Amino acid sequence: MLNLNLEELQQHPTPFYVYDLNLLRQTLQAARQEADKYDFHVHYALKANANTPVLDEMRQNGFGADCVSGNEIRAAIENGFASKEVVFAGVGKSDEEINYALEQDIFCFNCESSHELEVLNELAAKKGKVARIALRINPNVNANTHKYITTGLEENKFGINAWELEHVLAQLQTLSSIELIGIHFHIGSQITDLSVFKNLCTRVNEFQEWFLAHNIQLQHINVGGGLGVDYYHPEQQLIPDFEAYFGLFNQFLEIRPGQEVHFELGRALVAQSGTLISKVLYIKNGQNTNFAILDAGMTELIRPALYQSYHKIENLTSTAAEVRYDVVGPICESSDCFGKAVLLPETNRGDLIAIRTAGAYGEVMASGYNLRNRVKAVYLH
Ligand SMILES: *Cc1c(COP(=O)(O)O)cnc(C)c1O
Repeated sequence: MLNLNLEELQQHPTPFYVYDLNLLRQTLQAARQEADKYDFHVHYALKANANTPVLDEMRQNGFGADCVSGNEIRAAIENGFASKEVVFAGVGKSDEEINYALEQDIFCFNCESSHELEVLNELAAKKGKVARIALRINPNVNANTHKYITTGLEENKFGINAWELEHVLAQLQTLSSIELIGIHFHIGSQITDLSVFKNLCTRVNEFQEWFLAHNIQLQHINVGGGLGVDYYHPEQQLIPDFEAYFGLFNQFLEIRPGQEVHFELGRALVAQSGTLISKVLYIKNGQNTNFAILDAGMTELIRPALYQSYHKIENLTSTAAEVRYDVVGPICESSDCFGKAVLLPETNRGDLIAIRTAGAYGEVMASGYNLRNRVKAVYLH
């Protein structure tokens, strides 16, 4: 059960995020246990949630850090992650970010283009360093998820396409400040159809064959993240099925002797532990709809507006008979809506509303649009 202790919640001014650190810990332990069965390395994708107490739990449970910006690398290192546990991906790494990562001597740059390799080589040479890299390959595997969080199709901006690899290998021969140590894939997010990962394994095996045929032994394979969570029935699956997920990779990935397998999970590790708590400001009766107007909006949680994503909405304080509401925020945008025709107990001004499964890609995407205050966080231990 998720801990949403009403007495505790009522003590804080709304809106705020509440994190159940016990559930987070249980989730991390479950993931750890399943990954350990096969000696898989798991990096936590900081972009899902980079709050210090969350990062502390990740580090204490033995996860590395997957970063997509220089500031994420800094946050990881300042929160005690060893630089040898940091990987750095992103299609647009700036010179400043690359230099910082080189100075920190991170484990691996996941490189996304031939042009980036050239720049990284130049910057590493200037520092007299050799940058360890993995090639992020675009495997052209469809993640069957929302188009904005699909990243592994040739039409997406991410990674190096298969037809470019021959050229990239030739290029690498000429770049003396770069050492190729692995290949990297990340095909998208909120993937709930596990057969997608099976397709990924097949493609990865093919790429491995290709590298072997070119006399290249890869020290590590990084298959990225993307495991989804159940936004519709959070109580039924508070902890994702890590057994099936890691088991599938163990079954279908052809792992060579001595080779390390790396994962980068974000959402699956933190989503269910976080909830956005908001208060009802007004009830407004429209022509065909009733609106419940909250004091939280797309500035606190943008996922519904950005990806049409579903979040379960609960009224924590009313037990009256159920009525349908469009649950909306105060922001001057019609997309500022958390859910349409949501069945809720009859709702009144002052009721506390919980928007569930908001621990990942929630607080980190908060904005100051409309000059809103920065949303706060509360932790339940
Ligand atoms: C966002 C991201 C992840 C994490 O994705 P989730 O869906 O949250 O697991 C992993 N790797 C890379 C490169 C990413 O950009």
